[in-house]
Amino acid sequence: MSERVNLFGIELDAVTMRQAVDTITQWTDHGSCRLRFVVTPNVDHTVLLQENKQLRDAYSDAELVLADGWPVVWASRMLKKAVPQRVPGSDLVPNIFSAAKTDNPLRTFLLGAAPGVARRAANKIKNRYQGVNICGTYSPPMGFENDDAENYKIIDLVNRSNAQLLILGLGAPKQELWIHRHRHELQADVAICAGATIDFLAGEKSRAPQWMQQTGLEWAHRILTDPKRLARRYAKDAIVFPQMMLKEWMHPSRRQKTVVG
Ligand code: UDP
Repeated sequence: MSERVNLFGIELDAVTMRQAVDTITQWTDHGSCRLRFVVTPNVDHTVLLQENKQLRDAYSDAELVLADGWPVVWASRMLKKAVPQRVPGSDLVPNIFSAAKTDNPLRTFLLGAAPGVARRAANKIKNRYQGVNICGTYSPPMGFENDDAENYKIIDLVNRSNAQLLILGLGAPKQELWIHRHRHELQADVAICAGATIDFLAGEKSRAPQWMQQTGLEWAHRILTDPKRLARRYAKDAIVFPQMMLKEWMHPSRRQKTVVG
């Protein structure tokens, strides 16, 4: 059972990293006749979601909604709807890998990142996590999401790999919209929308130093390492997010209790 708090129109699961890992591990251990998917909202996702109904629909069907960024956790505390801690996708995935059992390796498919990156991530994962079996990788071409043949190919690849866990590294909102659209065609137990996690696992991109992650400055590291792509996006977020906080403070959304898992 997990409490959910409604913040900015998103139902966030108030869980710790440990609880999220245990829940997902239970789902993959026991198997399921339907795919459950996990999203990890950061500030940018919460801003995107305000004007994107499809993304809101995807979020409302997600089985776990985990606060990825410190600003989302801070906002939840300031608005008296506290989630216990940050559960970023790029930490969640390695934690699930660490918890996987060596006598029954977790069959995992890596979907996304630039050509070759997922395969490099697979090699590193193989050396580092004995409980994980990377049963497939694929980097779809640009625009794949609008190409039926390509979508069919990906679904077939994932299903034939017999993956229990699907990691999506396609960026937001593409990964959330894609998994929401195709969730009934996929046979994996769990899918995690994990952004740049495959890049991090491959060593293609570097995470911010621990002190920056712990003090809520990871966004600054990301801007510095990818200014062309992120500066304009973060500037917009810096204007819109405080307005969203003010609105939420003046018109708080209802607090809810929901059963998860
Ligand atoms: N990506 C992809 N296919 C696409 C678009 C993006 O594989 O059509 C990958 C890209 O190579 C990178 C990741 O998605 O590995 C972007 O993750 P990030 O979290 O930086 O994206 P954001 O959610 O911040 O846009």
